[in-house]
Amino acid sequence: MAELALLGGRPVRVEPFPPYNTLGEAEKRAVAEVMDSSCLSDFLAAWGPKHLGGPRVRTLEAAWAEHFGVKHAVAMNSATSALYAAMGAAGVGPGDEVVVSPYTMVASVTCALVFNAVPVFADIDPETFCISPRTIEAVLSPRTKAIAPVDILGHPADMDPIMELARQRGLVVVEDAAQAYGATYQGRKAGTLGHIGVFSLNYHKTIHTGEGGVAVTDDDNLADRLRLIRNHAEVVVGDTGRNDLAGLVGFNFRLGEIEAAIALEQLKRMPALAAARLANADFLTARLAGLAGLTPPVVKPGVVHGYYLYAIRYDEQAVGVPRDLYLKALQAEGVPAVGGYTKPIYLQPMFQRRMAYGDKGCPFGCPHYQGHVSYERGICPVCERMYFKALFFINLIHAGLSRADMEDVAAAFHKVHANLEELKATA
Ligand SMILES: *Cc1c(COP(=O)(O)O)cnc(C)c1O
Repeated sequence: MAELALLGGRPVRVEPFPPYNTLGEAEKRAVAEVMDSSCLSDFLAAWGPKHLGGPRVRTLEAAWAEHFGVKHAVAMNSATSALYAAMGAAGVGPGDEVVVSPYTMVASVTCALVFNAVPVFADIDPETFCISPRTIEAVLSPRTKAIAPVDILGHPADMDPIMELARQRGLVVVEDAAQAYGATYQGRKAGTLGHIGVFSLNYHKTIHTGEGGVAVTDDDNLADRLRLIRNHAEVVVGDTGRNDLAGLVGFNFRLGEIEAAIALEQLKRMPALAAARLANADFLTARLAGLAGLTPPVVKPGVVHGYYLYAIRYDEQAVGVPRDLYLKALQAEGVPAVGGYTKPIYLQPMFQRRMAYGDKGCPFGCPHYQGHVSYERGICPVCERMYFKALFFINLIHAGLSRADMEDVAAAFHKVHANLEELKATA
C-alpha cells in the first residue's frame, strides 16, 4: 500500500490540474468587433431607447430570454447588482423582513440590507444545502416581504412548494441561480422558478465575462422596475408617464458592450460546459461509492444538478479522523479540498454587532422595524454543522478536466481511505 504523501510518500498527483478556461477565439473576435465599432456602452440615464443600453446588451438580453424561456432578461454589471435590483423591484423596504440563506455568497443576503430590510435566516436542508419550504415557513412573519432561495452549489432549491408558500402569503421570490447553470428542476431551468431569477457572469462561475450578471422575469412590471433601478430610476420615472413608480432609487448597474459581446458567446458554450461538469461529477460519485463516512452530493428526484462545486458530506465518526486532517491528507495527494464552504453569514460581525450601515444600528434597530430577529449561534444548526464539521468541497469537476484527471482525483480519495489507520496515528 502506497505511503500517504502527508507522511512522506509520493503524491497521487504531482502535476497541477488544468485550469478552467471558458474563453476562446469566438470571444476574441466578439471583443474585436466591439472595439472596431468604438461603442463600448450606449446607455443613457434618460427615458427613451438608450435607457435600455447598447446593441450588444440588447442582443444578449434577447438571446438570454430565448435560451431560458422567459419574457424578460435584464443584463447588469454583476449578480450582486442584479440581486440588489431584484429586491428594489420587489418593493422591499424599511420594516420588511426577507428570508435568506445563511450558506451562500453574501450578496444573496446584503440585497435585503441595502433597502433597509432585515434578513431572517432559514436553515438549510442537510442534503441539498438550500433553504427549504419547511425551514422558510418556520421563520415567516407578518413582516416578511420576500424570500431569496439560492440554488447553492448548483442544486436547485425545492421551488414548487416555496412558490406555493409565497402565493399564499403574497410574497416575492428572488431565486439566486448564480451557481446553477445547467441545473433543472422538474424539467424547468434553474433561475426561471421564482418571480425573478438572478445569474452571475463573474469569473468564478460556469460561464463568465470577468464581471457581469443577468436578472430574468416573466412579469412586465418587475422587468420595468429592474431596468429603471439599473439605470438611475429617479431621473427617468418622471418621463415615463407612469405615476406608480415613485420610490425607486436607481444605481449604475449597467453592463458594457464588451462584456455583453463575450456573454453572447459564453451563453452558446454554456450547455456543453455544464454537461461536462455533470459527467465529471457523475463519474466521481460512482468512484467514491462505498468509501466509509463520505456522502457524495445528493440529487433530488426531478433535479439535474449544476455542480458549481462538488460537495461531500463528511462523517468524522465513520472515517475516524477529524475533517481537517483528512483534507490535509487529500491536499498532500494533490487534490485541493476545502472544508466548510461559507461561514454561516449571521456569524459575521455585521450581524453579531447588529450594525449594517451607519452607526445607529440600522436596519435592525430602525424604528420602522417591529420584529426581533436573532443572529445567535445555534439559529441554523444544520448550516453550522456543515460549515464547522460535516462538509468539504472540491472544484475538480470542471470542463477542463480529462477522464485521466478525474481518475487521479478519485485515486487520491481511495489512497487516503486505504491509509486511515496511519492517518489516525498522526492525530
Ligand atoms: C457569485 C455569486 C453571487 C454574486 O455574483 P457577482 O456576479 O460576483 O456579483 C451571488 N450569489 C451567489 C450564490 C454566487 O455564487
